[in-house]
Amino acid sequence: MAEENFMRVPTAGQQRKTVYTEAMEIFHRAAEVMNLDRRVRLELEEPDYEHIFYVTTKLKDRLVPVSPEAARGYTDLSVTKVRDPNGLERLADGKIILNGKALLGSDVNIRAGHLRLEDGTVYQLVPGESQRFKAYRVQHNQARGPYKGGIRYHREVSLDLFKALAAEMTWKTAIADVPFGGGKGGIQLDPRQFGREELQTISLRFMYKLKQLVGPNIDIPAPDVGTNSEVMALYLRQFSDGERERHNQRGVITGKDVRIGGSEGRTKATGQGVAYTIEDYFQDRGESVKGKTFITQGFGNVGSWGSLILQNMGAKLLAVNDADGSIFNPEGIDALELMRYVNENPKNLKRSVLGFPGAQSISKADFWLVKADIAVPAALGGEITAELAEKLNVKLIAEGANGPTTPEADRVLEKRKIDLIPDIICNAGGVTVSYYEWIQNKRMEGWSEKEVDARLELALKKNYRIIRDIARNTPRRTDMHDSRPYTIGRTVDTRCAAMILALKRIEAHYMLEGFSQ
Ligand code: NAD
Repeated sequence: MAEENFMRVPTAGQQRKTVYTEAMEIFHRAAEVMNLDRRVRLELEEPDYEHIFYVTTKLKDRLVPVSPEAARGYTDLSVTKVRDPNGLERLADGKIILNGKALLGSDVNIRAGHLRLEDGTVYQLVPGESQRFKAYRVQHNQARGPYKGGIRYHREVSLDLFKALAAEMTWKTAIADVPFGGGKGGIQLDPRQFGREELQTISLRFMYKLKQLVGPNIDIPAPDVGTNSEVMALYLRQFSDGERERHNQRGVITGKDVRIGGSEGRTKATGQGVAYTIEDYFQDRGESVKGKTFITQGFGNVGSWGSLILQNMGAKLLAVNDADGSIFNPEGIDALELMRYVNENPKNLKRSVLGFPGAQSISKADFWLVKADIAVPAALGGEITAELAEKLNVKLIAEGANGPTTPEADRVLEKRKIDLIPDIICNAGGVTVSYYEWIQNKRMEGWSEKEVDARLELALKKNYRIIRDIARNTPRRTDMHDSRPYTIGRTVDTRCAAMILALKRIEAHYMLEGFSQ
């Protein structure tokens, strides 16, 4: 009986709800209203390829803090004085990695595998084991160019999630009008629980296996949650090591450090794009960002740069929430000071906003209730649920994160007349400057930050204007943009309009180039 059920193919409409099916709701809605070609719709409905593979590594020895009860057995154990404290690498979970010759030349007192450090804590010495991690790369679509999308290191990733994120990249590259398709991938791990060298070997091994799937004209990874330019440098080296023309391959990875072929302005690009779209939203209404208030969820790359640039445009940051807590100051939080506190304070192991002296701590529930003009969700997906959308005290949501708002929440926001800048335009700044990086690599050029910013501003504002024209059904041509090929003869909501722009641009490739048989 159970077997029979297992064998049965689910009919349409009966599908289990997943992150992917939820993310694709808007695709189906837009495809329906614009009457997308049936075959193109089938091509886009599922990814081209879904790769799952495994990465193994040998972990290092760790000092693991023992429980207070267990520590009682060691009250008479004298302190171990470590000669080179740099050899101890403290992790966010309280464990300590023993690097190099940390204990050599030190005054070591070990009993039954336990020792006490100068902080008074008793630790158990646990030898490093080999571990296996699950890794993914989803290549969603390449009708418009090579697959393009970030690599995420996070505990909560899955094929389902990467499918959704890869599809988002297909839409985003089409909206930003850069000649790429969509991809996404990563590794299931919490990077904060591993040491620097461990993460290096995991990253190298990951690229060792990924190498046959990517390339400067095939699939181009970039940073995402939990990865950064340092990880990109490792990928680049692992990909091009020993190759005869390795400098021609610099474009296999974007988001690199500027000193090794990265682009000026790339690190801040996504936040910069979030700020440009917000600026354009207010300009369209005859208003300005100056004097507006905002709250930010997630203070990593996107959240921190977005906040700083909005602040520089004259807006005031009132509250921030991240994975470890929330902070609030009705007088305003200095985004630059907060960035320094998060990134440069060696005591802030979790890289959290929590404990920032310039604000008070509040609960996550209270964070979302803060009254402000703008909310910038810049953490993970699915954070703004229908229930939360009922309570929000803001006028505009600018989606820095990918998929932060659920479809049910969308309906509530529409009912409550809270405006939205959809993720696929709002956070497209990163992939747009990744494209500039890729061109610079191809041409062996280096553009100035001013030049990058000017191109980015034009690209995002132009396409955001086309989206607004589609939404309002006002086809027109101005000095900056031409929305005539994209409007569909009726008004739609902004998220649907953004998707229509993406689908029209992708559909053109299939219709004009045809299908390979
Ligand atoms: P990041 O790793 O630099 O920062 C992530 C931030 O989110 C951290 O502050 C973390 O504390 C916070 N966070 C994690 N889990 C949380 C939770 N459960 N509740 C609240 N906060 C939580 O990542 P990032 O690069 O800034 O990316 C953030 C979002 O923006 C992601 O959705 C990503 O896909 C999207 N995005 C990033 C880029 C880019 O260029 N980096 C481009 C487009 C979209």
